[in-house]
Amino acid sequence: MEALNIQQLRKTYSAGVEALKGVDLKVKQGEFFALLGPNGAGKSTLIGILTGLVNKTSGKVRVFDEDLDVAPSRLKAQLGVMTQELNFNIFESCWNTVNFQAGYYGIDWKEAGRRTEQLLRDLELWDKAHQPVRNLSGGMKRRLMLARALVHDPKLLILDEPTAGLDIELRRSLWVYLQKRNEAGLTIILTTHYLEEADAFAERIVVIANGRVVADGSASDIRARGAGRILSVDIPEANERAWFAQATSTAGMTLIETRGRRAYFSAPDTDAAALALLTALGSKNLEIAAPTLDSAFVALTGEQPEAEEAAPHGRTRGREKPSAPTDTATGEVTR
Ligand code: ADP
Repeated sequence: MEALNIQQLRKTYSAGVEALKGVDLKVKQGEFFALLGPNGAGKSTLIGILTGLVNKTSGKVRVFDEDLDVAPSRLKAQLGVMTQELNFNIFESCWNTVNFQAGYYGIDWKEAGRRTEQLLRDLELWDKAHQPVRNLSGGMKRRLMLARALVHDPKLLILDEPTAGLDIELRRSLWVYLQKRNEAGLTIILTTHYLEEADAFAERIVVIANGRVVADGSASDIRARGAGRILSVDIPEANERAWFAQATSTAGMTLIETRGRRAYFSAPDTDAAALALLTALGSKNLEIAAPTLDSAFVALTGEQPEAEEAAPHGRTRGREKPSAPTDTATGEVTR
């Protein structure tokens, strides 16, 4: 059975921005799936349509056989959503935050209490059950959001940039828990602009760029879409800017990333690019390697991938991560 079936989904905002330009997407029950794309690709718009925050312009959306046009509230009951923003009443206790949510879904109080306790225990929040949310650390607040997203026992969990702002240890424990739930049958959709996150955890990755699906497959399928091979060279100390301008205008090369004093390029014609680098630029230590997920991302989306401050498996990159959402919760109450 399909957990999600989207056909020809389009969204044009009132200002005329076409955020989704006919997206087709199927997610099977039990999949751990990543929706990957650069900022502005349309990920939030797609998730917003599923959760009822954004009205679609046209197209079909079904979640476990519930049609968005026919039964939006039945469709919503199948979904658990963990958003990027921490949208709690910070004066409420952890117990009430989760337990009241069960109430919204009409779960009887005894069962709601049982599930609340189970989730708080599983997510290591049990000793904070009767503390107000504002007393929790950032990582605890995220785990509480997950507990709240799961209390009505949804069949499809949507995680919108779930690990933004979390340290490595917290990411690991969150992923261990999510993988356990996935193995027990929960379908999970993760949106991210971090390649490493998609690569490390999702069985299947769909890349969207500029409102369209541009690739769909496993990490290795996506990697294979990288244009050509990767050339890397030492960056000269002097006149770096001019060197980059010259390098990228030579043989149509695209800069993928820099790591330390190394620069990594993709090029439509590897031989021509290697020759140009060696003769015109005189760079040392030229290396040519197989394509990476990063190079595929550049080739597919025309955008530089975002790098994580610290990837889930500990690899670090030279580029800076965009500012993570802070967890100074505003006290705003949802729903
Ligand atoms: P992502 O989540 O992948 O970063 P979004 O879905 O937020 O992408 O945005 C897709 C496009 O739609 C962008 O060009 C963005 O500026 C535009 N957009 C998003 N929300 C609105 C809105 N409320 N009104 C107008 N344009 C919007």
